[in-house]
Amino acid sequence: MKITLLGTGSPMPDPHRAGPSTLVQAGNQNIVVDCGRGCVMRIVGAGLMPPMVTAVVLTHLHSDHISDLNDIVTTKWIMSPVYTPLVIIGPVGTKRIVDGLLMMLGPDEGYRLDHHRDLREGPGLVLDVREVSPGDSVQLGDVTLEVHRTDHRPVSPTVGYRITHEGKVAALAGDTIPCAELDVLVCDADVYVQTVLREDLVRTLAAFVPPLEERFTDILDYHSTVQQAGQTAARNGVKKLMLTHYVPTMQPGSEDEWRALAAEHFSGEIILGPDLTSLEV
Ligand SMILES: [Zn+2]
Ligand SMILES: [Zn+2]
Repeated sequence: MKITLLGTGSPMPDPHRAGPSTLVQAGNQNIVVDCGRGCVMRIVGAGLMPPMVTAVVLTHLHSDHISDLNDIVTTKWIMSPVYTPLVIIGPVGTKRIVDGLLMMLGPDEGYRLDHHRDLREGPGLVLDVREVSPGDSVQLGDVTLEVHRTDHRPVSPTVGYRITHEGKVAALAGDTIPCAELDVLVCDADVYVQTVLREDLVRTLAAFVPPLEERFTDILDYHSTVQQAGQTAARNGVKKLMLTHYVPTMQPGSEDEWRALAAEHFSGEIILGPDLTSLEV
């Protein structure tokens, strides 16, 4: 099983980091977990073309995690030589998002159907949208996805995915604070991927921009800090911890500083870095 951080950014734009998105490759599956800005560029950077994406899996419907879903849908549709379904899995509300997205793509669909005689179905016809809830389990080929509740309140519903293939487990938590359900999601995982923020840096940044101070500090109560990710990993016997979705953006050269904060609590390997950082378990 290979895990690649496609996008390590956050809602705050960064020229060098795509939005939150992680690729899980196992068996014959190429699963994209969340699809933030620029993720299709990174999918290609990871060595795949969009038709090779077999499923998109959403942890929640915050814009930074879904903003380039339309790009995956469109490029997979127009670049596929044959019709292959794209499975889209997400919490309740995902169907509404996809319906709206297809409405947005309506003119484009019409242009392309008019222009290309060999394209005879629009993108909506090759999508297999499945809304899931905590406790559900989804089989994609020989890869199993268990759906677990996470805590990103007031955002709801939010879920994380425990992905299993040939005895290896990757736990993709998404945006969440530590909670009992997260402990079950990541328990004994070979790799636990957590979106994180640095409370110290967020508070420093907030103080520099008084008109936006409250908006910045609001985000502190619904994300795991780097230290909390380390604590969750240690408490649950995780083997490797992968950090992503750096808030604020992780400046080049500060990787060791971020890693050290998690290492205060977790003695296993901690992986972080630029987009396309990857790990095989
Ligand atoms: Zn979020
Ligand atoms: Zn987020």
